[in-house]
Amino acid sequence: MSEQATRDTVMMSELTWDVYQRRIRDEGAVVFVPVGAVEQHGYHLPLGTDWMMASYVARRAAERLGGIVAPPVTYAARSQVRTGGGPHRCGTTSLDAEVLIGLLANILCELSRHGARRIAVIDGHFENRFFLDEACYRAQRDSALRGAEDLRILKMLYAEKMRPETMERVYAGLDFPGLDLEHGGILETAMMLYCHPELVDLSKIADEPTPDFPPYDVFPANPDWVPASGALSSGRAATREAGKLLVEEFVELVSDAVSAEFGTGK
Ligand SMILES: [Zn+2]
Repeated sequence: MSEQATRDTVMMSELTWDVYQRRIRDEGAVVFVPVGAVEQHGYHLPLGTDWMMASYVARRAAERLGGIVAPPVTYAARSQVRTGGGPHRCGTTSLDAEVLIGLLANILCELSRHGARRIAVIDGHFENRFFLDEACYRAQRDSALRGAEDLRILKMLYAEKMRPETMERVYAGLDFPGLDLEHGGILETAMMLYCHPELVDLSKIADEPTPDFPPYDVFPANPDWVPASGALSSGRAATREAGKLLVEEFVELVSDAVSAEFGTGK
C-alpha cells in the first residue's frame, strides 16, 4: 500500500505505526474512540447497531476534522430493561461495569502514552454513560501522574441533542416516545436505513404496544415488561430520508463539539 493510501484513511487499524505516530505527535490529530454495545434491537435491526452507529458518526466527524478513529469498544454496559430491553433476548452481551471502566481507561491511557493529547469518546449506548465518565476521569488522572498533564478528553452521546425542527420532521404526525423508549424505534431504524441499509429488515418490525414501565427496576429483571421483539417502540414509520437528516445532524453535532473544545478546524 502506498503512503498516500494510508494517509487518506482515518481508521487507526488501517494506518501503519509510523504514519499513526506522525499524525498524533506531529499533527496533533484528535483520536476518536467509539463505544457501543452488543445488544438486541428487535427483529429488524442487528445486534451491533449501537457500536456500528457510534463508529459511523465518529468516522464522519474524524474525516471532517482530520482525526483518527481508534477501533471501537464493541461490548459495553449492561442493557437495562427500561432503556434497552434488558438481558433476556438472546445475543445481548454485556460487561460488568468495572470491566468496561477498566477497559476504556486502559485504552485511553495507551492512546495518551502514544502521544494523543486530545481524545473524543463517542458513545452510542445510553447505559454506558456514567461508566465512561469514570473511565475518562481515571485515564486523565493516571496520565497526569505519568507526566501527560495536558491530556484532554471529550465524552458525548452522539445523539445528545436534536434540533426541534428535525424532531418535528422525523416524528411528523407521531408521538415522540422519549429517548429512553427509542430502543429499536424510529431513530435507530432510520439511522441504520441510511448507514447500513443491508442490515435492516423493515418487514420484521412487530406491531406491539409501547411498554408502560413502572417507575422502578427489579432484580432479577422481569422479561414480561418488554415486548416480545425486544424493541421498546415501533420503527415502522422510519425512513431513509429521516435517517439522513438525523445522522447528518449528529455528525455536525459531534464535529462542532470536538472543534469547539479542541480548536480543530473543519
Ligand atoms: Zn441502540
